[in-house]
Amino acid sequence: MDADVIVIGAGLAGLQCARRAQRSGHSVMVLEAEDAVGGRVRTDRVDGFLCDRGFQLLNPAYPAVRQWIDVPALELQKFGVGVVVRSGQTTTTLAHPIRHPRHALATLHSELTPVSDVVAFVRWMVPALLRRSTASTFARDETLYASFDAAGFTGRLRRDVIDTFLAGVLADSSGESSANYARQLMRFFAAGVPGLPHTGMQALPEQMAASLVKPVRLGTAARDLTETADGVQVMTDSGTIRARVAVVAVGPQNVADLTDLSTPATRGLTTWWFRAPALLQAGPFLMVDATRPGGGPAGPIWHTAVVSEAAPSYAPTGENLVEATTLLDRPDGLAGQADVRRDLARLYQTSTRDWEVLAHHVVPHALPAQRPPLEDLGPKWTGSRTLVAGDHRGTGSIQGALNSGDRAGRTVVDFLAP
Ligand SMILES: Cc1cc2nc3c(=O)[nH]c(=O)nc-3n(C[C@H](O)[C@H](O)[C@H](O)COP(=O)(O)OP(=O)(O)OC[C@H]3O[C@@H](n4cnc5c(N)ncnc54)[C@H](O)[C@@H]3O)c2cc1C
Repeated sequence: MDADVIVIGAGLAGLQCARRAQRSGHSVMVLEAEDAVGGRVRTDRVDGFLCDRGFQLLNPAYPAVRQWIDVPALELQKFGVGVVVRSGQTTTTLAHPIRHPRHALATLHSELTPVSDVVAFVRWMVPALLRRSTASTFARDETLYASFDAAGFTGRLRRDVIDTFLAGVLADSSGESSANYARQLMRFFAAGVPGLPHTGMQALPEQMAASLVKPVRLGTAARDLTETADGVQVMTDSGTIRARVAVVAVGPQNVADLTDLSTPATRGLTTWWFRAPALLQAGPFLMVDATRPGGGPAGPIWHTAVVSEAAPSYAPTGENLVEATTLLDRPDGLAGQADVRRDLARLYQTSTRDWEVLAHHVVPHALPAQRPPLEDLGPKWTGSRTLVAGDHRGTGSIQGALNSGDRAGRTVVDFLAP
């Protein structure tokens, strides 16, 4: 045997699984098809800018992050807890009144936050507030929009802010995602201050990989996986690897390549990264657009941020890095550069003619589709020695991937126990 455990895929789930099994004294080998660890959490360095492969944030309030990640070592640069709302010619900053007292009065007295809407929003959140559990299942589930309607949450706060914000976070503009999943995310947003590591999001998986005794075998795709009487065999282009048990942590779009599970549905988005020379003063917040009559963005961009205002290490001194995210479930999800540039000019009320595109990341399988009822499926045995893990077995998030990987690690440790 080459190892007790072979983990296929060095995303967050695979890495956490490997660390858990290693901690129990097992020899572990991790295979990764790409040239670096991280899976969906990767960072490109472009001309001194850090462009994550799809804008995302790390929320230190995730229990899995608190438990298993050395957060101080990541030197998180904090985003604001709130949003800037662009509506026609008006810009309003709505922010957590305690964390951002400077914006408290404007937030509480905004036309976007009438008391009736705030009360309805709290009513919608009640199931998540009453249950302290981080489990993804609450008593009953329904689609996001049906749950908003049922809670009477139908005013401007929903239409102009929350619908658009959550569509960007869930990569779902249809409102058909699980209400319980959305509640869980909102609870984490309220509990923590999301941020970006000093050297980019990839610092998170790199920190995890650094604690493995055997380095991850990069550029090594598993081509085939078969079970034998006493273990598993994994074919790679450089030979066959044998182990006592395999964990397949390859992401939703690849799970059917190596197991008999069907491919889970996913949702996609794209992120444009721009070098913006002019000093933009949007604050360390995400901006959402509520210009379309009835709510929602008037152009292809569902959220944008001057990332370097919150995370200065993402841009060289004196320069700005701007992200703009479009959704692939929209007809304009693959809008061209000219349209995105025009939309940014409208949103930031400035010329974007000189802004330079640094990168455009198209991520068709960014997140598993989280339709109701949200179920915490847990790692799954697909043979007597093959276990499947990943965010698609829990929730589509850093929390979900880490948790699934850890559970898979504990499951194989139990399996290998004498
Ligand atoms: C653009 C974007 C924004 C996001 N925003 C957030 C956010 O703000 N907050 C949040 O909590 N979550 C966010 N997420 C979700 C989060 O990043 C994912 O849920 C998590 O990273 C998934 O980890 P995973 O290990 O399950 O899968 P992956 O990261 O997909 O890892 C699978 C790995 O397996 C490898 N692999 C595949 N096939 C093989 C093979 N045959 N052999 C070897 N290796 C193979 C892949 O190369 C990959 O490295 C976002 C995701 C994206 C893409």
